Amino acid sequence: MKTTIQRAKEQLFEIPDGKYTVLEALRYIKINMDRTLSFNQGCRSGVCGSCACTVDGKEVLACKTFLQDNQKIEPLKNVEVIKDLVVSKDKIEQNIQKYKTTIIENSQKTATNKDAKKIDIQSNCILCQSCYSSCPVFAVNKEFAGPYILSRVFRYANDIKESNQKEHIDLIQTNGIWDCTLCGNCALVCPEHLDPKNDIQALRNMSATYGYMDPNFASMSFGGGMDFGFNPNF
Ligand code: SF4
Ligand code: SF4
Repeated sequence: MKTTIQRAKEQLFEIPDGKYTVLEALRYIKINMDRTLSFNQGCRSGVCGSCACTVDGKEVLACKTFLQDNQKIEPLKNVEVIKDLVVSKDKIEQNIQKYKTTIIENSQKTATNKDAKKIDIQSNCILCQSCYSSCPVFAVNKEFAGPYILSRVFRYANDIKESNQKEHIDLIQTNGIWDCTLCGNCALVCPEHLDPKNDIQALRNMSATYGYMDPNFASMSFGGGMDFGFNPNF
């Protein structure tokens, strides 16, 4: 079977017919055909997120996806390619700091199982960056906080142990929740079934309780001379 890998240039490899995951095919090529091929791998069981790439343009975990004949393997989109299929995680790590995606002020409350359940799914992110690769807003604006970060903000803003929810909400007003187009691509590609789009919608509702509103809506003028300008006391 044949597969094309996007490196500095596209390269076609022919490997023996068989049933391979994408990662097994990459390992076969590296061991038997080209030792310079670079890709990330870790747990090989869909837990660490390090082998994310695209196959025929769709974000996948290489260790959990079977390769078909004539498919094209490429690095994730919208992130810096270091070599072949290896991409940088610098941006996502910078954003973790920038958006303070952790407990800012500990409430000292004890979380019950019910409390933990409310933020369970958001806590399952494996940092694979597939959602960033699929996001049309991040593609054109690298200052956009991005789907994973916004899900993580949701997670900490709703944590019973957090007593400073407002600071989380304040930090995502610029290049954050209002820039998302709600296209849902991030939810479609997430291997852990997070739904950042839903979390963003929930964060918009929470923002309204702190007096924020969609800046695009706030700057709109409506007919009849009425202007629904931003009202900080809303
Ligand atoms: S729903 Fe929003 S965050 Fe998710 S991919 Fe679309 S624009 Fe990006
Ligand atoms: S939210 Fe999903 S797709 Fe995005 S980094 Fe986390 S696990 Fe990967």
